[in-house]
Amino acid sequence: MRQISHYVNGSISPSSSGRTSNVFNPATGQVQAEVGLASIDEVNAVVASSLEAFKSWRASSLAQRTAIMFAFREIMASRRHEMARVVSSEHGKVVSDAAGEVSRGLENVEFACGIAHHLKGEINEQVSSGVDAYTLRQPIGVVAGITPFNFPAMVPSWMFATAIACGNAFICKPSERDPSAVMLIAKWLTEAGLPDGVFNVLQGDKVAVDGLLEHPDVSAISFVGSTPIARYVYETGTKAGKRVQALGGAKNHMLVLPDADIEMAADAAVSAAYGSAGERCMAISAVVAVGDAADPLVAAIAERIPAVKVGAGDEPDSEMGPLITAEARDRVVGYVERAKDAGAVAVVDGADADLPSEGFFVGASLLDNVTEDMECYQDEIFGPVLGVVRVDTYEEGLDLINRNPFGNGTAIFTRDGGVARQFQFDVQVGMVGINVPIPVPVAYHSFGGWKASLFGDTHMYGPEGVRFYSRAKAITARWPDPATSSVDLGFPTS
Ligand code: NAD
Repeated sequence: MRQISHYVNGSISPSSSGRTSNVFNPATGQVQAEVGLASIDEVNAVVASSLEAFKSWRASSLAQRTAIMFAFREIMASRRHEMARVVSSEHGKVVSDAAGEVSRGLENVEFACGIAHHLKGEINEQVSSGVDAYTLRQPIGVVAGITPFNFPAMVPSWMFATAIACGNAFICKPSERDPSAVMLIAKWLTEAGLPDGVFNVLQGDKVAVDGLLEHPDVSAISFVGSTPIARYVYETGTKAGKRVQALGGAKNHMLVLPDADIEMAADAAVSAAYGSAGERCMAISAVVAVGDAADPLVAAIAERIPAVKVGAGDEPDSEMGPLITAEARDRVVGYVERAKDAGAVAVVDGADADLPSEGFFVGASLLDNVTEDMECYQDEIFGPVLGVVRVDTYEEGLDLINRNPFGNGTAIFTRDGGVARQFQFDVQVGMVGINVPIPVPVAYHSFGGWKASLFGDTHMYGPEGVRFYSRAKAITARWPDPATSSVDLGFPTS
């Protein structure tokens, strides 16, 4: 059986904990590898390596960091298809979708190539007679990123590129379900000239996460995953005195007004609900259809679903791959069954789909007449299930979205610019699309939800990422003539 291990000090480092987890090929349902799960001793060894590397990396020049980021960017861009195939084989998403994930991850590396601009400090000359004040931004030390299964290449890239470029040492703890993409990143960073230990990979589960959260030499934690774990990581990490940003789950609504182009809205809903089999934190899982929009919209979505080609990620014509595990598949099927029992109408039932006989496949479902009290509306299903909630007015739709405990992404489809602007002003959600169904910000605008979709103060990547991975040091300096010096016990004023 192929073994997947840690990556420490510039090379692969086998786990000796004796604990492992299976890595499946979701398209066949077969185990394709085992990943070693770290013991606390292994956590401590990885953190020690990172701390040692940080001592010299923090003093590296901005020119050196930039050169490494540019070199890595070239390697990852030229091998994006290799990365996409690895992502697809462990996650299940189709290769073209995986290649898109790699490209979006690369944007963050490109952002980090300009780190010299982002780290510029501030200066005031002559704040007092002969006194200057300036603020520097310095790295914070060893920082760890704990990442989810659904974007095994992109989410680590949200974190490591900025963290390293700011002068920190970075430890990635990827999902144990698809741990190989990060190993490629580690290998390619070494090839790009990154000094050993500046980027380490710690494979593991809760033991590894808890070890990082409690370790005194880990200064900050970036987390992306489900809301209960995000809350736990935020509370535990901040209690231990660490800086933490923890991004959680989502329930993303798409509000469709009667004046919207219904065909365009249906295309967007199908793409955003069923792409990556719904395993995206920015997937649309609830369409809120206002008034007369509902009937034609439901019909247009239903008409498109049979055309979505479900198949293994590496088959060229596949558009929707399997789910990550058999449990995830069964969970989705259960949600659809219970939704029907609760009164939702299964316009399209994934259980009726013609699916490959092996693997963790599930068909796309479209549920109509979903109401706010239903489990299928309240929970993040994280599968190819789209629920339609019918409302009479724009205001009703807005209130529904604002009452939802999650606030990751949302979209409005309309031809009315005034209403769209009002929506942008009023909606209690961190990322808003106007006729854009999946509004993941480009790398130079930060990513983050509101409410139960993010715990912490800073969003991820972009300018807020730079603030998260650096801290300010304020300097007050003067170079007076020693002959003018005297004792003065008063509080310094200007
Ligand atoms: P998850 O919360 O199960 O796992 C995320 C990470 O936490 C993994 O590395 C995992 O090993 C670790 N972990 C799991 N259980 C733990 C525990 N009890 N204690 C400590 N660590 C634990 O999430 P997932 O299933 O891998 O990913 C899907 C979730 O991630 C969805 O809820 C999705 O919305 C969310 N997500 C959010 C964003 C965002 O930007 N907000 C992006 C991607 C995914």
